[in-house]
Amino acid sequence: MKIPFNRPFVPASAWERLRAAVESGHLSGDGPATRRCEAKLGGWLNGSRVLLTSSCTHALEMSALMLGLKPGDEVIVPAFTFVSTANAFALHGARPIFADIRPDTFNIDEEKIEQLISPRARALVVVHYGGGPCSMEKITQIAARHHLTLIEDAAHALFARYDGRPIGSLGDLATLSFHETKNLHCGEGGALVVNRPEDVARAEMLREKGTDRSRFLRGEVDRYTWRDTGSSYLMSDLSAALLESQIEIWPQIETQRRDRWLRYAHELRPWADRNGVGLLAFEAKAEPSHHLFSLTMPSFGAREGILRWLAACGIHATSHYAPLNTSPRGLRYGGRPGQCPVAESVSERLLRLPLFIGLTDDEQSAVIAAVTSFAP
Ligand SMILES: *Cc1c(COP(=O)(O)O)cnc(C)c1O
Repeated sequence: MKIPFNRPFVPASAWERLRAAVESGHLSGDGPATRRCEAKLGGWLNGSRVLLTSSCTHALEMSALMLGLKPGDEVIVPAFTFVSTANAFALHGARPIFADIRPDTFNIDEEKIEQLISPRARALVVVHYGGGPCSMEKITQIAARHHLTLIEDAAHALFARYDGRPIGSLGDLATLSFHETKNLHCGEGGALVVNRPEDVARAEMLREKGTDRSRFLRGEVDRYTWRDTGSSYLMSDLSAALLESQIEIWPQIETQRRDRWLRYAHELRPWADRNGVGLLAFEAKAEPSHHLFSLTMPSFGAREGILRWLAACGIHATSHYAPLNTSPRGLRYGGRPGQCPVAESVSERLLRLPLFIGLTDDEQSAVIAAVTSFAP
């Protein structure tokens, strides 16, 4: 492919940061680079405790452990998301209950959540799709009314805001991803955001194999011991160094993504309107993080056609999110075809265009020319 779907961005300062991490002699988890990243992200998130993890998947698993799930407990998840959003809770004993999405933002449909809440429901997980915040006013009210733990899967949405408030600070817990396809990355990585101060000590233990080693490293106790059942969810300090090189310039990263996103929207809108193609919409109170640029074609055939056409032009576009309710594993948890009609329909018609920091103006012009020369 001449134009890839993604090229991971590595700022020039990364090499200095990586060298310093190697020379510091602390390459394992919870080292100086990890602490600095956590402090900077925590500052953005209104003082929440941020724990860097090996992945967003692991941060979601930590969220599941935080719930102390019992057999038969249920966790409500959107049907249109990456598998980890449901798998992490299923792995720790919950039954995922699949909720449909809104046809405009592709976020969980807040009007369809309450009908899914049974007495076994323990948590509500929302995904801010593409970096566009969910309708958080209504969602926080629903979670409070039904005593559900609210978890934001903010893998796409770091540095997005809803009604002026940072995404990731609105649920009880939130998870971030630093996979190389995400806005900020370190190859593989993630974070758990703990918004209730009373949960911090336990979250730290779950990340450190169930021990209070984090307190020991801060000099708060003189030895550490096994206190809970956790695992090893730490990020290597080498990865944190790579991440830090991006956190320190995040406003530039966000501006560059936004400029490319807005150019796509501006130059593709007339073609989209003429051809019945949808562009992702955001709520009035949302300030998105421009994680992805999607087109929603009028039919499955048109989506397959444009993917083939773009590939023939040397452009790698991709589809995504097979609905979880109709996946082989989802069916085992009681999912069924027709249960989430919006998710099922969007999944067949959506594609994402290349959107990354190194995408040049000429490359983007080539993508726009290829798309607009396709008639569905
Ligand atoms: C990427 C992603 C994840 C998983 O992130 P990893 O860091 O790769 O584990 C989870 N949820 C959503 C919505 C994602 O896009």
